[in-house]
Amino acid sequence: MSSTSPRAGIVIAIDGPAASGKSSTARAVAAALGYRHLDSGAFYRALTLALLRSGIPEQEWDSLTASDLAQLQVAGVAEAGGYLFRIGSEEVTGEIRSPAVSASVSRVAAIPAVRDWLLGTLRAAGAKGGLVADGRDIGTVVFPDAELKVFLVCAPQERALRRLREQGDASASVEDIRAEAERLRTRDHLDSSREVAPLLRAADAITLDTTGLAFNSQVDAILRLARTRAGG
Ligand code: C5P
Repeated sequence: MSSTSPRAGIVIAIDGPAASGKSSTARAVAAALGYRHLDSGAFYRALTLALLRSGIPEQEWDSLTASDLAQLQVAGVAEAGGYLFRIGSEEVTGEIRSPAVSASVSRVAAIPAVRDWLLGTLRAAGAKGGLVADGRDIGTVVFPDAELKVFLVCAPQERALRRLREQGDASASVEDIRAEAERLRTRDHLDSSREVAPLLRAADAITLDTTGLAFNSQVDAILRLARTRAGG
């Protein structure tokens, strides 16, 4: 932060487990405040897609260097309050949500070189303030000084149902929900147990349980906190 340029607003960090509604909530909070939204998971997803496409065998991923990662040509391009993603000249913003990427992203996000490589990019997005960032380590590692930190939690079955609906499955069976809840549980376990920047509630984060809560209510709850913290 420069002392000569005034900040464009506060930094709001929203962390929580998979499919807890972080990104949709963060996007709505950012839009209401006129802030930028940073979905940090999307950066890990874009890198994962590029790695899967690269043909580099998985057993070599742990020894990837910053220069190997740069050669994957992944770019997050700031646009209309958020980001779109490219690999080379191809836009991949939709494809980074595929089940194949979801199944491998936690493996990629646990690689220290990957986290080091993305940290600078993520931090730069908040340098001028006016940002709502969501992820797993936003309040603990990326923006430890964020003015507002929220940790979203939600019952596993409800998270699974939300994720299936988001993927267009409006009539999910009990078995589908159980299988999706299991996939989320696996990802949460990997994200919470890794050595570098695990999924963790920051000591100064406010926990918001969104189980059974209407989307607008969770957005309003965060907006009320944000307006108090921003002094406006
Ligand atoms: O938020 P989303 O579910 O899209 O994130 C995908 C994955 O990216 C997470 O499961 C996690 O492995 C990784 N991630 C991370 N740190 C963040 C955001 C996401 O490790 N700050």
